[in-house]
Amino acid sequence: MKRKNLLGLSRQELVALAVEMGERPFRGKQLYHQIYRRRIFKWTEMTDLPVAFRERLARDFRVTLPSVANRQDSSDGSVKFLMELEDGLRIESVYIPEPSRDTLCISSQVGCGVGCTFCMTARMGLLRNLKPGEIVGQVLGVIQEKLLTPGVFNVVFMGMGEPLYNYRNVMRAFQLLTDPEGMNLSRRKITISTSGVAPVLEKMLGEEFTPNLAISLNATTGELRDRIMPINRKWNIEDLLNVCGRLYRDDPRRRLTFEYVLLKNENDSDRDAVRLANLLKGIPAKVNVLPYNPNSGLPHSRPDPERVQRFCRILTERQVAVFVRKTRGDDISAACGQLAWLRSEGVGIAT
Ligand code: SAH
Ligand code: SF4
Repeated sequence: MKRKNLLGLSRQELVALAVEMGERPFRGKQLYHQIYRRRIFKWTEMTDLPVAFRERLARDFRVTLPSVANRQDSSDGSVKFLMELEDGLRIESVYIPEPSRDTLCISSQVGCGVGCTFCMTARMGLLRNLKPGEIVGQVLGVIQEKLLTPGVFNVVFMGMGEPLYNYRNVMRAFQLLTDPEGMNLSRRKITISTSGVAPVLEKMLGEEFTPNLAISLNATTGELRDRIMPINRKWNIEDLLNVCGRLYRDDPRRRLTFEYVLLKNENDSDRDAVRLANLLKGIPAKVNVLPYNPNSGLPHSRPDPERVQRFCRILTERQVAVFVRKTRGDDISAACGQLAWLRSEGVGIAT
């Protein structure tokens, strides 16, 4: 029988496992520290644990990270990793160095079933959800590559997949990432980006601890959003903004991020900018404008820099905080919306 992979189990689950094996609970805690705090994945190297316990663990269990199947370095310092999972499926994670703090962009699903017309991941369809271990495994894997300083980086769920369609596993990963006894990342340094799964956002209203949220709005009329983001036919702009308006009510310091992919002649007019400012009235928000990253075969194009500027100016004039997301890693197809691994193409990274 194949040994079970322990990566992704929580502190409580490892304690329960140790007890089940006839050990005292603190052995489970020690095991947890080895994996998530010290990042030791080989039984022989877990020298804090008694040899006999390790030998018994080794018989039935292992701790395995997703393996790095390919690495591409961009001229701007970003690095895209193609990670292979145990069933052979592949996902991508992108390391983005920044002067203030590095960011790691991770995936929550293999592919995505939402079907946005501007996004390459949509072309894969949804293959499956990632397990908690496969989500934190991306972070641990990139730390192993010596790119990230443990505990001091941002994590954004902006890679492949719709995180709120894999909510349970994403939140389990969030707990692992932020546990002070383990990976110890600040909750404020973790952001989930969603295409707008309103009922799950509604559920988040009741959670004690939540990551930052980024909402991919991308259109200001129902007609356009229906067309470019089919999820809008389930939960429209009004439903979405209704729950957004209530999300950070108890914490006036927090602000929601709205992402807006600018598509030439589709959603980039002056009227769109005015409508966007009006829609966000009353919501503590900032807007991240993402000029469209071209994907071959997709029916969109990027507006000229002057148009991007004008769009932003209209927002600023209406007191909306706006940032233009700098495109990173586009020479290796690692920018937003360019992550895809199309099996039909064999090798892996599609452009
Ligand atoms: N599924 C989630 C997270 C992954 S997509 C979501 O949709 O929010 C991360 C971000 O990339 C989203 O804001 C999405 O709108 C944006 N994006 C997708 N394709 C893009 C493209 N071609 N150019 C620029 N941004 C894109
Ligand atoms: Fe899925 Fe997000 Fe891409 Fe839409 S933009 S297809 S939700 S990954």
